[in-house]
Amino acid sequence: MALVLHDTLAAKEVPFVPSEPGKARIYVCGPTTYDDAHIGHARPCVTYDVLVRFLRSTGVEVTYVRNVTDIDDKIIQRAAQNGESPKELSDRMFLSYTEDMDRLGNLRPDREPKVSETLPEIIELVEKLIARGHAYQVGSDVYFEVSSFPEYGKLSHRNLAEMEAGASERVDDAEQGKKRHPFDFALWKGAKEGEPSWPSPWGPGRPGWHIECSAMSMKELGPTIDLHGGGLDLVFPHHENEIAQSQCATGTCYSRHWMHNGFVQVNKEKMSKSLGNFFRLREAFAKVEPEAIRYALLSVHYRTPFNLEVDLDDEGHLLSFPQFREAENRLEYLYETKARLLELDSAKIDEASSEPAHAEIAEFQARLRSALESDLNTALGLSHVALLLKRINELLDRTKQKKTKISRVAWTAAHEAFRHLAEVLGIGQAEPRFFLERVRDRRAKERGIERSWVEEKLALRNQARAQKDFVQADAVRAELSALGVEILDGTAGTTWRLV
Ligand SMILES: [Zn+2]
Repeated sequence: MALVLHDTLAAKEVPFVPSEPGKARIYVCGPTTYDDAHIGHARPCVTYDVLVRFLRSTGVEVTYVRNVTDIDDKIIQRAAQNGESPKELSDRMFLSYTEDMDRLGNLRPDREPKVSETLPEIIELVEKLIARGHAYQVGSDVYFEVSSFPEYGKLSHRNLAEMEAGASERVDDAEQGKKRHPFDFALWKGAKEGEPSWPSPWGPGRPGWHIECSAMSMKELGPTIDLHGGGLDLVFPHHENEIAQSQCATGTCYSRHWMHNGFVQVNKEKMSKSLGNFFRLREAFAKVEPEAIRYALLSVHYRTPFNLEVDLDDEGHLLSFPQFREAENRLEYLYETKARLLELDSAKIDEASSEPAHAEIAEFQARLRSALESDLNTALGLSHVALLLKRINELLDRTKQKKTKISRVAWTAAHEAFRHLAEVLGIGQAEPRFFLERVRDRRAKERGIERSWVEEKLALRNQARAQKDFVQADAVRAELSALGVEILDGTAGTTWRLV
C-alpha cells in the first residue's frame, strides 16, 4: 500500500500505515439527527466512502464505523417544536440521512453506533477519567481538565496559552464559575428540568458531545484506530477533545491518522441558515441526479473548499446548481459511452485479435490507483476518466465502418475500466439506459416537453428519411433542436436527449 494522506496532526502528507497490515479501522464523525441532510453533509460522506472503497479495492480489510449523535440539544429542541419525542425525530432523521447517502452512491458503514445505545461505555470512560485525575465533578456535571493533558492543542496546532488570550467571551455563562479552566469541557451534564436524562453516578443527565466519539470508537474498534475522519470544522474543539480524553483514559495513541475534508461554501460565502443559502440534499435531488452531486464533489480535491455555485431568481428561489448540472452532463456522456459499449453488436468483436486497448483504457486502473494514492486525488482520477471515455468512444467509432471490428481484448479492457470506476469511485454504478432516461424525462418535465410529442416527431422524421425526403427530416431535427432536443442515431436505433 503506497497510499499517502495529508495528516492533520503531522501537518503534512504521510504514508498511511495501519497498526495491523492489511486491515484498516476507520472512524468518521456522523450526523446529528435533527433535520434532513444538507449538501455540506454529503461531502465527508462521499470523501470517506471513496477512501473505504479504494482501500478495499487494494485488498485491505476495512472496518468502517460512523456514529449517530441521537442525544443532542438541537434534537431535544426540534422535537419539542414538532410535538414529537426526541427518539421519534432522531429515528426519522436517521432514516432520511441513510436514504440520502444511499442515493449519493455511498456504501453504508459497517457499524453505526448510536449515543443512546452507548451510555454504559460513556459512563465507564468518564469514571476512568475521574479516577485517573483528568476529570472533576461539579454538582451533577463532570468536566475534563485540559491542563492535566500537556499535549492539549496538538491536533489544531495551538497551545493553551494562545487559546486563552482571546477566549474569555467563549465561555458559556452556565458553565462560568464551575470550570477550573475556560477550556475544560463537559463530559457529563446534569439534567435540566423536562429534558431526557439517563442515570449516572453523578445523578441523572446526559453525555457531553465529545465523549461519545471516544466511547464509540473504543467500543467498536479498540483503543487505537487507524484513521479518524471528519470535516475541518471538527478539528477544534471536537477532535482535540477526543484525543485528550481518549489518550488520558487509555495511555495510548488514539488514532494513527487524522483526515479532514474542507468546507462547502455557497457562492463563496459560508453556508448558513441565516444567510438563506442552506440547501437540503432533497432540494438538490429534485434538480439533478444524486450521482451528479457525487461527481461534482469528487471533481474537487477533498481538502480544498468546495464552492457551490447557486443560481437564484430575483426573489431568492432556487433555480439551479450549475456545477451539478455540468457534472450531470458529464455523467450523461459516461453512461452514453457505457451503453454503446454494452450494446455493441457481438459481430463487431473480433475474438481472434489480440490487439490491445489504448493505454488510457488498458492502464486506467493503475492510473486511478496512482491518483488516489496521492492524498486521494479524485480530481486527477476524474481527469483520467475523461480520457478513458474519449478513448472508448474512439474505439467504438471504428466499428461504424463496415467490416471493421475491435478486439475482444480491447472490449474487455474497456468493460473492466468501467467496472473498476464503479467499484472505486462509486461512479457509473447505475444501469446506463435507466440513468439516461431518468435525466431526459426530468429535464423534459422541467421544460414542459411531452415525451409522446417528441416520439411522434421522431417517427415523422424516420418516415421522411425512409422516403428519402431529407428536407422534411432536417426540418424536424431543426424543430426539435430549437427546444434542446438532440437526436442520437445509434446502432441500436434512434434515441434522444435534452441538452
Ligand atoms: Zn465525533
